[in-house]
Amino acid sequence: WRQPGIKRTKTVCTYCGVGCSFEMWTQDRKILKVQPTPDAPANGISTCIKGKFAWDFVNSEKRLTTPLIRENGQFREASWDEALDLVARRLMNVRDIHGPQSVGFIGSSKASNEEAYLTQKIARLIIGTNSVDNSSRYCQNPATKGLTRTVGYGGDAGTIKDIEQAEVVVLVGSNTAENHPVIASRIKSSQKLHGQKLVVFDPRKHEMAERANLFMRPNASTDLIWASALSRYMFDNDLADYEFLERWVNNIDEYRESLAPFTLDFAEQKTGIPKQQLIEAAELIGRAKSVCLLWAMGITQHSHGSDTSTALSNLLLVTGNYGKPGTGGYPMRGHNNVQGASDFGCLRNMYPGYEKVTDEDARKRWAKGWGVKPEQLSLEEGWGNFLMVQAAADDKLKAMYIIGEETAFSDANTHNVHSAFESLDFMVVQDIFLSRTAEFADVVLPACPSVEKDGTFVNTERRIQRFYQVLEPLGDSRPDWRILKDLAARMGHDWGYTHPSEIMAECASISPLFAGVSYERLEGWKSLLWPVAADGTDTPLLYTDGFPTDDGKASLFVLEWQEPLEAADDEYDFMLDNGRLLEHFQGSNQTGRSQGIWDQVPGSFVEVSPELAAERNIQDGTWVRITSRRDSHEFPALVTDRVAGKTLYLPIHFGKPGVNGLTGEHTDPVVHTPAYKETAVKLKVL
Ligand code: SF4
Repeated sequence: WRQPGIKRTKTVCTYCGVGCSFEMWTQDRKILKVQPTPDAPANGISTCIKGKFAWDFVNSEKRLTTPLIRENGQFREASWDEALDLVARRLMNVRDIHGPQSVGFIGSSKASNEEAYLTQKIARLIIGTNSVDNSSRYCQNPATKGLTRTVGYGGDAGTIKDIEQAEVVVLVGSNTAENHPVIASRIKSSQKLHGQKLVVFDPRKHEMAERANLFMRPNASTDLIWASALSRYMFDNDLADYEFLERWVNNIDEYRESLAPFTLDFAEQKTGIPKQQLIEAAELIGRAKSVCLLWAMGITQHSHGSDTSTALSNLLLVTGNYGKPGTGGYPMRGHNNVQGASDFGCLRNMYPGYEKVTDEDARKRWAKGWGVKPEQLSLEEGWGNFLMVQAAADDKLKAMYIIGEETAFSDANTHNVHSAFESLDFMVVQDIFLSRTAEFADVVLPACPSVEKDGTFVNTERRIQRFYQVLEPLGDSRPDWRILKDLAARMGHDWGYTHPSEIMAECASISPLFAGVSYERLEGWKSLLWPVAADGTDTPLLYTDGFPTDDGKASLFVLEWQEPLEAADDEYDFMLDNGRLLEHFQGSNQTGRSQGIWDQVPGSFVEVSPELAAERNIQDGTWVRITSRRDSHEFPALVTDRVAGKTLYLPIHFGKPGVNGLTGEHTDPVVHTPAYKETAVKLKVL
């Protein structure tokens, strides 16, 4: 590497929320290799196939390299001055005519913390709306709600090291080996090295299910029932941690009474899990010294994902599994910076650092920090992603600004999303590719991927890490923070930032959660886990001295089980599960442009169970038509016992309409996360 022209630069993976960091070796624009080092705080010397090999997209010929403006239905190239002038003028014009609530912003879970911060600052300060959101609405908001209802913070309770050292790990609705491969590898090592026990609840027999000490396949949308039945079992069998409960937890009696319906018999009948297995799981969890419970979209993407997430956190409280090493609740963050996009304010109801927009004191402090009058900041909560799209369809939202998100592919029932986008007066998309969403835009602004800029990301552990510029921006593309800063200046707010470190410094000076965060403290391989005190002390493990509530106590939250909003019936008699594959990511905009990855998995398929295959004479490669209440698509079948009975599984990465041509708009009523996993379909063999 000492050859002239070869450079090594620290960066952070742009894919999942594990937050692997490594050195990237480059020569000019050529990425020679990715090399992990023992200094990397989240991953050490581990990475997965995506972090190691899925970088071709950076030099793809399909990258956007110049701004585009739609004229007579076609895009034409434009200068930055022309494009930014047009965007500034049109957004202000829509706001002046229709009011601040007529403009909505979707920030990117792949952009940096500083870019998330600027996105919400433009929305709140310049436009005057809190309608700003990010893709956590589609995945982890229900988990965040479950945690904030019970223990206070919405982030993971501890670190990957805590997961490694737990006596028992419980995985619920999380295909960890494919979606968070490095965390899965830590669990596999802990199984071997210190006999860690693994309990898996999942409809799909994925790799971690095969490695589990106990694997249970609950019926669709019944997880709240087994979780509550396990909590009841703990109280009934003297396995509840009364010392912890009395010292740290409120609402014990009311919660315990609310568990009356959740008998083991009821749980067996509804979930389909044999009673004896539920007892085994309860005994393993109840008698362990330390339990980490990890969950993902198998829980959250349901019509009652917030309640089920709450039930999981209740179970951890009942068994005293918070605030000690090797314990806690861990919603697995999907995108590399979905945690940071929320932490730094791309949320409809929170300033950066999770301060409510409805809180007068928070408003005063943010207004002072930004040098404006408090009245300039709205006290009204805005719309989240899903509701923005609905509002556009209802002609209440007139303009949208979308940064690096594939809303036209990722939101549920994309048919409705597309017609909502077509009805907008003005739409801007800022992205590295002409994505499916950008095709609806009036102006497209070419942005840079993470390797062409400086910034910070937050991983699933709440760990803030720096990434450094590896390459020069391609063509005339620009870092998102610079585009946003230049746009703000054209709307009358010249903030004068010259580097992302100044944006972070401003946020740290206003937000107590990030008080001690600075680029100096994040230099090189250093990292900080929020909350970070002004003296730079960070918090790897939450709740060691109590909970962030008025009396320092957590709360058990009373729940009732409710039927899912969409279930199988006589006509639509299958449930369509869906999710990621190891090799790809989301709409495959990046992995699909990395040749080595595409060669491995070049297209879609639908998994069918061996029972169904025998009944309908389906073999690998047999084409089947899947029809939901929304639409119909055809796929080759893959016969596998990863799925059972009348459950099908479809990867989410492929096709123009993708799986969301089939999913519906039924959402969790608390946070409006679409119930992607509750999609009833019928199947026809072609
Ligand atoms: Fe690590 Fe996730 Fe990137 Fe794989 S995709 S290298 S596990 S951050």
